[in-house]
Amino acid sequence: MSHERLYLFDTTLRDGAQTNGIDFTLDDKLAIAGMLDELGIDYVEGGYPGANPTDTQLFSEEREFDTTFTAFGMTRRPGRSTSNDPGFAALLEAKADAVCFVAKTWDYHVRVALETTLEENLASIRDSVRVAKAKGREVLLDCEHFFDGYKANPQFALACAKAAYDEGARWIVLCDTNGGALPHEVEAIVADVVKVIPGDHIGIHAHNDTEQAVANSFAAVRAGARQIQGTLNGLGERCGNANLVSIIPTLKLKDQFSERFDIGVTADKLKELAHASHKLDDMLNRAPNRHAPYVGESAFATKAGIHASAIMKEPATYEHVPPDTVGNRRKLLISDQSGRANVLAELDRIGIKIDRDDARIGDLLDEVKRREAVGYAYEAADASFELLARRSFGKVPNYFDVIQFDVNVEQRDNALGQRVTVSMAVVKVKVDNETMISAAEGNGPVNALDVALRKDLGKYQSYISGLELTDYRVRILNGGTGAVTRVLIESQDETGERWTTVGVSPNIIDASFQALMDSVVYKLVKSGAPA
Ligand SMILES: [Zn+2]
Repeated sequence: MSHERLYLFDTTLRDGAQTNGIDFTLDDKLAIAGMLDELGIDYVEGGYPGANPTDTQLFSEEREFDTTFTAFGMTRRPGRSTSNDPGFAALLEAKADAVCFVAKTWDYHVRVALETTLEENLASIRDSVRVAKAKGREVLLDCEHFFDGYKANPQFALACAKAAYDEGARWIVLCDTNGGALPHEVEAIVADVVKVIPGDHIGIHAHNDTEQAVANSFAAVRAGARQIQGTLNGLGERCGNANLVSIIPTLKLKDQFSERFDIGVTADKLKELAHASHKLDDMLNRAPNRHAPYVGESAFATKAGIHASAIMKEPATYEHVPPDTVGNRRKLLISDQSGRANVLAELDRIGIKIDRDDARIGDLLDEVKRREAVGYAYEAADASFELLARRSFGKVPNYFDVIQFDVNVEQRDNALGQRVTVSMAVVKVKVDNETMISAAEGNGPVNALDVALRKDLGKYQSYISGLELTDYRVRILNGGTGAVTRVLIESQDETGERWTTVGVSPNIIDASFQALMDSVVYKLVKSGAPA
């Protein structure tokens, strides 16, 4: 069966950059564009040259990408010629393979926001597409508010789309700018549009305001559209854009799509998807969404014991796709609800070979249950579980001892007369027979303690130099004997691997210290540091 080509267009760097709290630098943009290019995304929209210095600089030189690097901007202003519009000129000077013009297609917006006539709006679309085509650019038209516009005045919305197509625009992109359209509406409207413009020239740009941006994108494809626009991790203003990280694996792994369509992302590149998603979170200094479809840490996690034993026998029983196809992994949660099957599966994954009837397995399970009863959470802390398991079977060297630590927090006036709070930690560590004392300041007591602990571990220092903490979460639990604090620390190293450790104590510093120690020891084990 011959496959149709379906194109992917990423707008993380333009529409995604509208997300509250996100401000990409030029280096961020180049790194993200490189990652998208590497994945096999057909189009990468870099930004809006002329609108801000970063985007102007981004498009000031040729970029070495295989993807069609696209600049975004407005059609010529009403009442001006294309040669007498500085914004339009800046867009055409951008070093881009393609230009995506945004134009109004809702008659109400044309009259109220643009304050011009419907005829002038159509002329502006025609002129802009024609001039950009003559400059040798591939042209896309972003039809702003297309679905609302189509509901209000279908003839006009279609006329705008058709005007661009007739002038040679490669893609007419139907935008649900407000994000309020529903899948059945999108499917019906796109079906109308493809009667006038061939579907292999139609794109869909959906926003997620009813949490159906992904569903709306697929609805458009069912009706004939052949380009999907979206962003990594669904970044975008308000509730975000269609999430390409969910769309790509669905297109690759679900028969209804994979048997009909080819996309630019290969099966090999699909395995990089989880990593790409997490790398973007890293750059934004956000903790990844654990429950993200396909790539989240919990996407293939199973808790209950009966499910776990079935999964070990036959994974397809509880998984809709194999986790490694998207670079994720199966996770059997170790918790007080879990049975031997989960523990055995985890031991197997860690690489501890043991007889199924070994009595120590029952001891380990009892220890997990005992600790969870006082507040530890091993299902969220895979690295701490691994250390506990390795210790149960006598396999963790005693790399170093912390003899003593001291943390102090001081509030005072600094030299400028400002009130500041300063934290300082001193840690005394013994490695072999050598004692080392390290001191560090930090923006808080835990940060100071972390920096001091990792400052000098003697012969082990080189093994932990790539270690960094990426997330720190605190929860106060109300146990029977008073409140205790649970700290979860997420770490990562130079290989990009992430792990989580846990500490529990009535004292937050003590709980944090346990989790920090587990993280460092885990890293030493993983790096094969000698005892
Ligand atoms: Zn948008």
